[in-house]
Amino acid sequence: MGSSQLHVALLSSPGMGHLIPVLVLGDHLAARHNVKVTVLAITTSAETQFLKSHMKSSSPIDIVPVPAIDVSALIDEKTKIIPQIRITVREALPNVRSSIAAMDRRPDALIVDHFCTQALSIAEELGIPRYAYYPSTAWTATLSMYLQVFDRTIEGEFADRIEPLRIPGCMPVQPEDFFDTLLDRSDQQYREYVNLGIEYTQFDGLLMNTWEELEPNTVKALRENEELRAVVKVPVYPIGPLKRKVEAKNEGEGRDEILKWLDRQPVESVLYVSFGSGGVLTAEQTAELAWGLENSQQRFIWVVRPPCDGGPDSYLAPKLETGDDACGPDYLPDGFLSRTRDVGFVVQMWANQVEILTHPSVGGFLSHCGWNSTLESLTNKVPIIAWPLYAEQKMNAAMLAKEVGVAVRPAVAPTVKVVGREEIERMVRILLEHNEGKGIREKVKKVKGSGEIALSKGGSSYNSMCELLKDIDTRMHTRTLH
Ligand code: UDP
Repeated sequence: MGSSQLHVALLSSPGMGHLIPVLVLGDHLAARHNVKVTVLAITTSAETQFLKSHMKSSSPIDIVPVPAIDVSALIDEKTKIIPQIRITVREALPNVRSSIAAMDRRPDALIVDHFCTQALSIAEELGIPRYAYYPSTAWTATLSMYLQVFDRTIEGEFADRIEPLRIPGCMPVQPEDFFDTLLDRSDQQYREYVNLGIEYTQFDGLLMNTWEELEPNTVKALRENEELRAVVKVPVYPIGPLKRKVEAKNEGEGRDEILKWLDRQPVESVLYVSFGSGGVLTAEQTAELAWGLENSQQRFIWVVRPPCDGGPDSYLAPKLETGDDACGPDYLPDGFLSRTRDVGFVVQMWANQVEILTHPSVGGFLSHCGWNSTLESLTNKVPIIAWPLYAEQKMNAAMLAKEVGVAVRPAVAPTVKVVGREEIERMVRILLEHNEGKGIREKVKKVKGSGEIALSKGGSSYNSMCELLKDIDTRMHTRTLH
């Protein structure tokens, strides 16, 4: 690699869930690989406040907010989330272009997040290498890229299939794990998803927030399987596990109540229950979960939210009217809080998840399997009860349970059928108590170790990132020579 410091521009699509992984990648590139990083963040009002605080923090990266244009005239209440983001990104492209033009030093490469693929043309105009960042698994990235083949060759709805989707060299995707976007091929959202997958293959490389040892078969297939490589030629760079860091919490007075409570519990004895930033359950499921936790007689922390009976997308729907009384939220079974007072800690709406999962008293995570939550769990050797709700979480859950071996999951997906209290009790006991869960507990310790090795000097993800930077340098150099 040349001696001068590389300058890489990262582009994030609107939404905190998209901005945070890009900032984490930026911090990692700057801190571990000595890269000058500028993050271009397409921002709506939601992210502005967060960005202000990040810009003031000690982060080594430069952040340039790119204001999103009002797209309300181009969408309506029926426009789903993927088309909405893609329209917002498309309309912001002139601002992205001018922000790059205004930079003191032109970037040596552009890395765009998984929803900003339309910015490919900007990198082409500038004549700089371009990469996409998929902040999730290699398996789901591969499905997106290979979907164009299924789209061409399979007639009818995927929802009617009893056969899995077979991606060459990878674990088949079972019909019960197909996510909503795949289920209606006449929907604009499905079409946009197919297009996204095609666009990933047009970049100079695809970064993924996974590591080779976690998904050896998929990564090998992406590199070597001829049938897959005939469609997905893009070089892949597994560079994870990258995750949010938390400030070290003071001991004593400033310490959260929840952490103080955890300090008093035995090692690996507590189940942490949370469904990500927006996940909610139905009223019936909330009650069954409460009974399952109580009957398991295990210790738990539960981030509860008011239930919502709105169907598969209910996490986005308005919540049922609920109230609190002296006994706690009225959607929990009568007397639940008082009966579980000695073993349970119930917190409403939100908790500091990263700090909780880092605590040695936590021994299990009942999770919706969003990829950030999953990585936060695995990197702290916490085994999982996989309880997927939406997006590609069903695939994550299947991979964790069947391929990686660090999770148990209900026999029937929670999106299809209410998970009963007996099954919940059984899963909690497997994770925290039973001999049956020993294999899972041991496996997750190995996975944590392999993630650390992957990121350390000479590890697979470290090397992958070095190869990426070398590729950028070589491409820049070749262009300069011409
Ligand atoms: N999170 C948190 N406290 C909560 C719920 C979520 O800190 O009570 C954080 C969690 O640590 C993770 C993110 O929110 O970093 C959720 O991301 P994930 O990809 O798991 O799921 P999503 O919210 O995108 O469905």
